[in-house]
Amino acid sequence: MTIDIGSPLLLLGRGADPASERGVSCPGDLPPASDPALVERAHAAKAALGERLFVLGHHYQRDEVIQFADVTGDSFKLAQEAAARPQAPYVVFCGVHFMAESADILTGPDQRVVLPDLAAGCSMADMATYDQVEECWEVLEDAGIADDVVPITYMNSSADIKAFVGRHGGTVCTSSNARRALEWAFSKGSKVLFLPDQHLGRNTAVLEMGLGLDDCVVYNPHRPDGGLATDELRAATMILWRGHCSVHGRFSKESVDDVRARIPGVNVLVHPECRHEVVREADHIGSTEYIIRMLDEAPAGSAWAVGTELNLVKRLADRHSDKTIVFLDKTVCFCSTMNRIDLPHLVRSLESLARGEVVNQITVDEETAHYARAALDQMLALP
Ligand code: SF4
Repeated sequence: MTIDIGSPLLLLGRGADPASERGVSCPGDLPPASDPALVERAHAAKAALGERLFVLGHHYQRDEVIQFADVTGDSFKLAQEAAARPQAPYVVFCGVHFMAESADILTGPDQRVVLPDLAAGCSMADMATYDQVEECWEVLEDAGIADDVVPITYMNSSADIKAFVGRHGGTVCTSSNARRALEWAFSKGSKVLFLPDQHLGRNTAVLEMGLGLDDCVVYNPHRPDGGLATDELRAATMILWRGHCSVHGRFSKESVDDVRARIPGVNVLVHPECRHEVVREADHIGSTEYIIRMLDEAPAGSAWAVGTELNLVKRLADRHSDKTIVFLDKTVCFCSTMNRIDLPHLVRSLESLARGEVVNQITVDEETAHYARAALDQMLALP
């Protein structure tokens, strides 16, 4: 057994790491961010492309970008929407790399998916590589339990990992349907390998399915055998991959205590990617779409502290000026990779497409796409 200590981090712009979503150099032909005509240029290029263009925008995108989206959504909604315009040859995905991969898998063979900045990856997706997951499966085989395990991967994973799960009869899930995915998996097997977000897996298993914390073990891909003894693996019901979101992982129990002291009567509303001790302290837990719906429906005068990405929280606070809506943590924290999609990158993508030139196309090879589609289709078919 070899110990994978992971690839060294590459500085942005200093070469490409094929095993990672990081380390992609910036193009030299970006319009300057100071150009006052950028908004006008984006509108003009979008108008010139007309029905040939479909722009998808994730809720965590900047305001300057989201205004150009034809559809906005979380990763689940955008996966459903990706195939909604089969007549559009160009799909510009304002989000991160794994989402654009899913869009490429779910759209038609003649549609091209473009990610405006190739460096828009996801630190969580990077925490599970194909080789690491293969090695984990060998550990499960050696422990004699692989036949009992149904793998589930969160949408926030690379196409390679989705394909791995598809090959092994599992499913993709999102924060909107994680419980349904677990119920489906436990109807097929007695154990689940949950990739790559340990928090979503633990929070769903313990808070929604009634499992105990001691039914869960954490597989650390950087330690021999995941850092687990064979008996621990055999006894576990949930084998959680040691991954997390660097944005939602920032919130702490102290953030909750602090906001409750500052704003009496505040409702704490968090995403299930937050740590278990935070989610336990919250009043409401749910996906990005759930968070938006809760705040849309909240009564005027109510107060909310929201534990999710800051671009979205700021937008919701602006939209609902009759309610008090604050970011759960005192420290400002955007998703740095979501934020890489800015107006200059969007303008470059749209103007290139208007000239008939496709830049930053995301493609998934046929075999990977076949098995990843099986796992995505299983998710879309969940009861
Ligand atoms: S918010 Fe977290 S999970 Fe989402 S793209 Fe950013 S790092 Fe990845």
